[in-house]
Amino acid sequence: MHKVGFGYDIHRLEAGRRLVLGGLDIAFEAGLAGHSDGDALVHAVIDALLGALGEADIGTRFPDTDPRYKDARSLGLLETVAGLVRSRGGEIVNIDTVVVAEEPRIGPRAAAMKAVLGPVLGLAPEAIGIKAKTNEGLGPVGEKRAIACYAVALVRFPG
Ligand code: MG
Repeated sequence: MHKVGFGYDIHRLEAGRRLVLGGLDIAFEAGLAGHSDGDALVHAVIDALLGALGEADIGTRFPDTDPRYKDARSLGLLETVAGLVRSRGGEIVNIDTVVVAEEPRIGPRAAAMKAVLGPVLGLAPEAIGIKAKTNEGLGPVGEKRAIACYAVALVRFPG
């Protein structure tokens, strides 16, 4: 049996904060605000995996009121959720994502993101999609005030 999950996240860009996206540290003038490191791409993937398990969202599992998750590495949270998938007998088949950002350019960094996410998810690069879009200058994402991410995950279960 296969189950699909879907995730979405958006974080504000804040000047002077370090930018962490897709598990990468990216040199940029602004970073994603958040209780954790603000990695909206990893958060969207986490929600997609939780969705495939029929579980509540990332904010329920890792509350931003909990000091344990202050400045938490989102990649560590992804590791925890990938472990949860395995503990339920699930095997992640593939993930596909869209990053919506005017800046910085994501496309040239997609391969490096796959190299970071792959081992955590147990996926080869060709089982990870990272597609980069701008928002055509429209809305808060288009005005470079935020980065939004979408993700789907397919999980295979025995039986
Ligand atoms: Mg988030």
